[in-house]
Order: sequence, then C-alpha cells, then structure tokens
Amino acid sequence: AIDIRGMNKWYGTFHVLRDINLTVYQGERIVICGPSGSGKSTLIRCINALEEHQKGSIEVDGTKLTNDLKNIDKIRSEVGMCFQHFNLFPHLTILENCTLAPIWVRKEPKKQAIETAMHFLEKVKIPDQAKKYPGQLSGGQQQRVAIARSLCMKPRVMLFDEPTSALDPEMIKEVLDTMIELAEEGMTMLCVTHEMGFARQVANRVIFMDQGQIVEQNEPEAFFNNPQSDRTKLFLSQIL
Ligand code: ATP
Ligand code: MG
Repeated sequence: AIDIRGMNKWYGTFHVLRDINLTVYQGERIVICGPSGSGKSTLIRCINALEEHQKGSIEVDGTKLTNDLKNIDKIRSEVGMCFQHFNLFPHLTILENCTLAPIWVRKEPKKQAIETAMHFLEKVKIPDQAKKYPGQLSGGQQQRVAIARSLCMKPRVMLFDEPTSALDPEMIKEVLDTMIELAEEGMTMLCVTHEMGFARQVANRVIFMDQGQIVEQNEPEAFFNNPQSDRTKLFLSQIL
C-alpha cells in the first residue's frame, strides 16, 4: 500500500529523516516507536504530504507523491490521518464534522454522507452524540469522532500519530479498543504510539526509529523479547 524508498528530509540544514526505506503491505498493522525527536511524526506527515521530502520516493497504491496537486489529492483521499490533538471543527456538530469532507471533497450527496457518518459514529460507539459540538464531548469521545471522520472518507490506509497521548488514562482504552477493532477488520494501519500493549496485541511489525533512521524492525514478539541494537535495548528498558 505504501512504498518509501531512500527518502530523506531536511528542516533547513537539519537532516531529520535519513534514508528511510519502508514498505507497508495492504492489511499490515505497523507500530512506530522511538525517542522524542527521532522523526516519527515527520515520517507520518511526509506520507500524506503535510511535509515535503527532498530525496527518494513515496508511493501510495502506485501513486507517486510529487508536487503535483492532483497526486497529493489522490493520496490524501486514500490515506486517513488521526493526530494527538483531534483537530475537530469546534463550530460544527459531530455529524457535520463527519460529513464536511465527503460532501465538499468527495461530492457525495448529503443524504448518503449522513448515512455513512452515522454508520461510522455507531462503529465508534457514539451515535447519540451526533448533534453535539466537539467542546461538549470528552477527549476520548472527540478522538473517536476524529477516527470516524477519517473513516467517512473510506481510506485504504490509516495513519495515527500518538492518538492517545493527550488523553486521560480512563479514555485511552476506549480509543485503543476502537483502533483494535479497526485492525481486526483488516484496515492497513501505521501507528506512532507508546502503547506497547497495543503493539503486542495488534501490530504485525514494530519499527524503532532513532535520530531520523529506522534502526530496527521486527514482529512484536521478537522485537520486545530479543531486541538487536543497543539503542533499541536502551529505549525499551526506559519505557517497559
Ligand atoms: P515526539 O515523540 O516528541 O513526538 P517525533 O519522533 O515525532 O518526537 P518529530 O516531531 O518528527 O519527532 O521531530 C523530529 C525532529 O525534527 C525534532 O528534532 C524536531 O525538533 C525537528 N522538527 C520538527 N518539526 C520541525 C519544523 N517544522 N522545523 C524545524 N525542525 C522541526
Ligand atoms: Mg511526534
């Protein structure tokens, strides 16, 4: 689904991503972890062109990411994204948040967009909140709306960047449960998270990044029980 080859990115003179090679196959569930500042968010943001890369290539389902706006639109329509801060529109209801892009970007008829939105709001277990505004919901509920909103665009891949790290502990589980369900239904997922329980349960591959590089990757069992590099060992000893 995603193919990244020899990708490099600089912020000015700062070399933030170094020779990233990563292929994500359809149906894979990949967790990315690593210390703060290692480039995890930057990598995720490069995949749907929120950040530009300077060298190498990124392809999503055969579409190469270039400066061509048509390609960028095509890729964004296939890639859903969910951030730490939910970025819901505060002046729109939950339902309107979910139907906005399908109606205006995908040109779906309003009735159909509402049906789809209600379907996904049911899936994330908050159909009863549809008429409320984001400010009236808990953080966990808002994050589930953000996930539902992404799903309304029928993405082929979902990118998550620490979707639970701004949430109170009791709300983390409800968001993780939503993500687990999504994974069980076969969604291709690339998740930056420090939830190692989630990684063990859901990921088929865990990737460790440090200083802008992919240092190590493996299936969860081997990754956690038998890390190869010293940097991975040190990182795991600090978080587990
Ligand atoms: P965290 O775990 O704290 O979220 P991260 O792995 O997601 O960290 P990034 O946000 O990708 O790290 O940042 C990687 C590096 O790039 C950091 O050193 C950061 O300071 C730097 N950086 C991020 N965004 C910018 C920017 N817009 N301009 C310049 N430097 C940036
Ligand atoms: Mg980050």
